[in-house]
Amino acid sequence: MTVDGAVWRDQLTADERAVLGRGHGFIPDRRPDILVVGGGIMGVATAAACAEAGLGSVLLIETGRLGTGATGGGAGLLVPEPHRWSDPEPLVDLEEASLERWRELERRLPHGVGLIDIDWIGLAPHPGGFAAHQPPAVEWLAPDQVDQLVPNLARSMEGALIRHQARVNPLRAVARLAAALPAVATGVAATTVTIRGGRIVTVGTSAGDIEPGRVVFATGQPPVLDGLPLKIPSDRVKGHLLVTDVAPVRLPGIVVPVATQLEDGRLLTGGTFDIGDEDPAVQPDVIGSIMDGLAAALPATKGLGIAYQWCCFRPSHPDRRPVIDRVPGLDNAWLTSGHFRTGILNAPATAAVLARWISTGQPPQEPGASWSATRFSRPAG
Ligand SMILES: Cc1cc2nc3c(=O)[nH]c(=O)nc-3n(C[C@H](O)[C@H](O)[C@H](O)COP(=O)(O)OP(=O)(O)OC[C@H]3O[C@@H](n4cnc5c(N)ncnc54)[C@H](O)[C@@H]3O)c2cc1C
Repeated sequence: MTVDGAVWRDQLTADERAVLGRGHGFIPDRRPDILVVGGGIMGVATAAACAEAGLGSVLLIETGRLGTGATGGGAGLLVPEPHRWSDPEPLVDLEEASLERWRELERRLPHGVGLIDIDWIGLAPHPGGFAAHQPPAVEWLAPDQVDQLVPNLARSMEGALIRHQARVNPLRAVARLAAALPAVATGVAATTVTIRGGRIVTVGTSAGDIEPGRVVFATGQPPVLDGLPLKIPSDRVKGHLLVTDVAPVRLPGIVVPVATQLEDGRLLTGGTFDIGDEDPAVQPDVIGSIMDGLAAALPATKGLGIAYQWCCFRPSHPDRRPVIDRVPGLDNAWLTSGHFRTGILNAPATAAVLARWISTGQPPQEPGASWSATRFSRPAG
């Protein structure tokens, strides 16, 4: 698999690529105040937020390279506003707060996070194609306005324009955040925990034991470790993406459901939901159907070559909402998991929630029960 086939790594500088393999196999601090397990965007953002909040020494460990999980295979789109049509309010609120935090990181980090401001255009193939629930920032487009913005479409249709959304190369964002972290060990897997008096006292790893003050698990899906009595239902949903060769068309932003144009003129498209497909390999028929859809919407792309194709798995819970919570029954451990299709977007706000919770010892008033780890075991109703 497969996230290795993604476009993102090839866009990095040599220095950024080196950061993704930082501290391979070497644990620089065996008694950190905070141990973060998992080096996807959630773990890296959380470690950065804890360090920024002055919570003492912070160590991040990651089984592979940073960004080897869903993060390195995601599309990197940061588009909260259109989700008002589809997602529950607390989730969209988290997403919007998180885009603000992404912008803040872009301003604050010495070299930013590589955030690109971009408009979102949704095409409605028939009148009334969008639900009545109207996000405040939307501008409705008549067919001739859509034709002006996206001149190469196969047929005229109405649309919706939402300005000032964003995107990142997810691996660049990981590398920029991780470069500033005090201690990172890649190639180190957490394997066991020892619990005493309601606290994790030791985390066993493939490179020996760590005795952390507090632990945050950001392992994509909930962590499965010997000695950790954690049962949260979770699954994963595969998705395919591809990047074409340089296209003979110009798109004005993220054009849904067509494509997003990258800086060099290639088109990023796909983002399928391949429910039930557990095979980690790219499926040629799925890639073929993505290209057929692209050519149907933009006939000028017919016959265009494919430069990159890959797939990865979205970590998920049954209600498709994340968990951001203390590990039930433990005083010094937290987890965040199941960020499904918006984990890259949600990372900075999630990290801020966790850092504040660890710092104050108080659970947040918001988002409260929405992200609880125990919501799946409550009786319905
Ligand atoms: C096709 C596709 C398109 C997507 N597009 C977008 C998008 O446009 N925008 C968006 O916001 N989101 C998108 N997503 C979703 C997003 O990629 C995920 O929600 C997000 O990357 C999850 O981040 P994470 O850090 O929680 O998990 P991961 O990136 O999976 O990171 C978890 C890390 O923990 C490590 N780990 C696990 N267990 C251990 C252990 N025991 N010890 C040490 N390390 C461990 C893993 O190796 C992994 O690197 C997309 C996903 C897919 C599949």
